[in-house]
Amino acid sequence: MALPTETNFVSDAHLTGGFWTRNRGTILGIAALIVVIVIIPFTVSSSLMNVAVFAMIFALPAIGLSLLMGLAGQVSLGQAAFFAIGAYTHAILLTKFNLPGPVAAVIGVGGAMLVALLVGLPLMRLRGHYLALATLGLGFIVTIAVREWDFTGRTTGIYGIPRPEVFGIAISNNGYFFWFVAPFVLIGLVLAVNLTHSRAGRALSAVNDSELAAESLGVNTYALRLKVFVLSAGFAGLGGVFYAYQVGIVSPQVSEFHLSVELLLMVVIGGLASVWGALAGAVLIELLGEGLRDLIPVLIPGATGEVQLVGFGLVLILVILVLPGGLHQVVVTLYGALRRRLGRRRTPSSLTAETDTAEGTAASEDEPTATLPRVSAPLARGETILEVTGLTKRYGGVVALDDVNLTVPAGQILGLIGPNGAGKTTCFNIISGALSPTSGTVTFLGQQIAGKKPHVSAIRGLTRTFQNLQVFTSTDVVGNVYMGRYRLGRAGILRGMLGLQGAEQDANRRTAHDILASMRLSDAADVAAGSLPFGRQRMMEVCRALASEPAVLLLDEPMAGLSGQERDMLADLLRALRDAGLTIVLVEHDVGQVMSLADSVAVLDDGVLIAHGEPEVVRNDPAVMVAYLGTDVQEAESELEELV
Ligand code: ATP
Repeated sequence: MALPTETNFVSDAHLTGGFWTRNRGTILGIAALIVVIVIIPFTVSSSLMNVAVFAMIFALPAIGLSLLMGLAGQVSLGQAAFFAIGAYTHAILLTKFNLPGPVAAVIGVGGAMLVALLVGLPLMRLRGHYLALATLGLGFIVTIAVREWDFTGRTTGIYGIPRPEVFGIAISNNGYFFWFVAPFVLIGLVLAVNLTHSRAGRALSAVNDSELAAESLGVNTYALRLKVFVLSAGFAGLGGVFYAYQVGIVSPQVSEFHLSVELLLMVVIGGLASVWGALAGAVLIELLGEGLRDLIPVLIPGATGEVQLVGFGLVLILVILVLPGGLHQVVVTLYGALRRRLGRRRTPSSLTAETDTAEGTAASEDEPTATLPRVSAPLARGETILEVTGLTKRYGGVVALDDVNLTVPAGQILGLIGPNGAGKTTCFNIISGALSPTSGTVTFLGQQIAGKKPHVSAIRGLTRTFQNLQVFTSTDVVGNVYMGRYRLGRAGILRGMLGLQGAEQDANRRTAHDILASMRLSDAADVAAGSLPFGRQRMMEVCRALASEPAVLLLDEPMAGLSGQERDMLADLLRALRDAGLTIVLVEHDVGQVMSLADSVAVLDDGVLIAHGEPEVVRNDPAVMVAYLGTDVQEAESELEELV
C-alpha cells in the first residue's frame, strides 16, 4: 500500500549526533506518555477506563501491523488470527495445564510467531493484493478451526481464565490492568521506533519503495519480509495474551474478520508512516467503538453489534479519501506549518522538480572537496572477475539474447553498446539477478550467479544502477546513498530494535555525505529524493551504488539526462574509480563517452554479440557499423564519425 510521498517521506537528519540528539523525539514522547499513563486511572470515568484498557491491548497488534504495513508495505487482513492464537494458547495453558502466567504468555506469543513463520514461508512470496487475500484466508481458517474443535471449546470458547497477579498483587480492576499492560505497550513502541530507524528498518522501507533496487544493494527481501511478518505476529500474540487475561473468556470472536478490520483501521487512521500512529489509532478506534455502540441503536432500532462494522467501514473509507496519511499526516502538516512560521525551515527550492532551472540541475560549483569513494578490488587487475557463457534469453518468439559470451577483466571498464532493443538491459538484468536466463551461466568471483536473486551477488560486491530509475522515495537523498552501505553492515532486526547501531549509523551517514560530495550533490543531501530533478536522481543512484564499495558496478545508461558538465564529471569519476581497482560495465547510448572511457567495448545487435575488443578495433569493425548505424558501410562510417 503506497502512501503519498509527502506523508511517507522520512528525513532523518536528526538521527545524527549523540544518544540524546538521536533519540530526543522518542524519549520526550515516551516521557509524556508515561505521565499520561500514570494519571489516567485517577482521572477518567469507569467506562472510559474500559476504553483505555482495550486501547492498550489492541495497540499491541496495531503496532505489529504498523511495522508490517507502514514499514514493510505488506497488507495483512489476518492480524486477528495471530491475536487469537496468542489468546487461545495462553487461555488453554492457564486453564487446562495450570501453567504459571508468564510461561503461558511466552508460549502464547511464541505460538503466534511460530504459526506466522510456517504460513509466512509460502505467503511471503506473494505481493500486494494476493498477500492481503491469503492473510484474509488465514483468518477464516483460524476462526473455523477454533469454532469446530472441542479442545478450543467450539463456540463457547475457553473461560475461567484467572486474573493475573504481579508480585502478589491481584490485577483486579481496570486501573491496575491498565498499568499492567501499559509498560508492554511502551516497550513495544520503543522497540518498533528503534526498528524503523535501524539498518533493517531502512531496508524494509527501501523494499517498500523498490524491491529491485533494495535487492541489488544486498537486501534479502524475502527473509526480511518474513522476519517482520513473524515479529508482527508476536505483537499480535502478546495483545491476545492480555485480552485473555482482561476478558476472562476467549471465544471465536477474537479471530473474526471484523477484528482484523478494526486493527487495519487503527493503523490507517493513525498513519502508516509512524508506529506512534498505531497507538493513537487504537485509542481513537476504541473511543469510536464506544460512541457507535451508543449511537447505532438510536439510529437503527434493533441493530445488532455487527452493524457497528458499518460505522467502521465508513470511517475507513473517509480516512482513505480525505486523510490517506492519517493522524500522522495531520501532525506532520501542523509541525511543518509551525516551523515555517518560526522561519526555521530550510527550503532548498532550487533543488526541487518544480524549480528545475539550470542552476537546479547543474552540479554545484562550491561543494566541499571530495574524497574518492572506496571500492573493492578482490582480484588483481586483468584477472577475470565476471564471465558470461552461452547466455540466452527468450520471450516466447523473441530472442532477446542469443548465446552471448563475455569476459570482464578486473579493474577495467567494459562498454556494452548496441542499437535500441539489442539486449543490453536484458544482459544487465540477468547478470544482476533481476532476470533468469533461458540458458547459460554467469560467474562472478568464481561463483555461478545466474538465476539467483540479486542480493546474492550484491552481498559479494556486484551492484548496479537502473535505466528506469529506482529511487527510494520514502527517504531523502542521503538516505538513499546510506542504503548503499547495507551490504557492509551486519546488524539484524533484534539489534535494530534494541537501538544498538548508533555509531555504525553515524559512520555510514558520514560516508554517504562524502560520496555525495564526489558527485557534487552535497547541497541536495537532505532533499526528498523523489523531488530531485531527473539527472540528479541518476547521479544519486550512482552514489548509492558506490556506497556499497562494490567490486563490479553495472551502470545502465548513467549519462542519460545529465548535462554536458555532469557527464564529464561522471566520466572523470569513473576513470578514477577504475584506476582505484573498480570493475565497471557500462551500458550507454553516448557512444563518444563509451569509446573514450572504456578499456574494451562489446557490441550487441538483435541479441547477438557481434564484436568485442578494444574501442579502436570495434569502432572500425564493418559489422558494427552496419548493424549499429545502417545497412551501407560507407554511410555508416560517416554517421559513426558524427556520433563519436
Ligand atoms: P534499449 O537501448 O532501448 O534500452 P536494450 O538493448 O536494453 O534496448 P532490451 O531492453 O534488453 O534491449 O530488449 C531486448 C529485446 O527483448 C527487445 O526486442 C525487447 O522488446 C525484448 N524484451 C525485453 N523485455 C521483454 C519482455 N519482458 N517481454 C518480451 N520481450 C521483451
